[in-house]
Amino acid sequence: MKLCLNEHESFPIKLEQEFAAGEILPEFQGLISLGQGKVLLSIQKADEEYYCQGSLNSKAQLECARCLEPYETELVSDIDFIACSQEHYDSLKSEAVDDEDYVFIDSTDVSIDITAPIEQALILAVSMKPLCAETCRGICPMCGSNLNQTKCDCNNEKIDPRWDGLRGLNGG
Ligand SMILES: [Zn+2]
Ligand SMILES: [Zn+2]
Repeated sequence: MKLCLNEHESFPIKLEQEFAAGEILPEFQGLISLGQGKVLLSIQKADEEYYCQGSLNSKAQLECARCLEPYETELVSDIDFIACSQEHYDSLKSEAVDDEDYVFIDSTDVSIDITAPIEQALILAVSMKPLCAETCRGICPMCGSNLNQTKCDCNNEKIDPRWDGLRGLNGG
């Protein structure tokens, strides 16, 4: 997904861009599908570099890490990167730039491809929301039942060790 920067003369600017699952769907454990998403960026220019910061949100269908059922949610994430030319980046190499995310500007039309930063932000958001609910009971390791929907007869309940002492006190 491309953003053109040369149509803007003064910075900072704010840009809003929609994206769809067909454009960006990172391969990531737990991510089933994306709905329509939106990214909001404010871009400040300083010499050779464009500082791009903002947020994105997208409806998504994820797979719960505990019960493995699909569920609908809204992903929200910050997005933060620097855009500059490849030449400029190469000139920085001596300095410490490893901890920043750089996106290279296509010099033919002064555009940037923001697919990679959006992918990263989505992956971060998915990894922070792996459960259909905080209280999800997950799957029984013995019989495979979804314990949110049924109660099985397997003896999975680990006895809370704190009760052991009490039992002793009661002469158990
Ligand atoms: Zn779940
Ligand atoms: Zn079971």
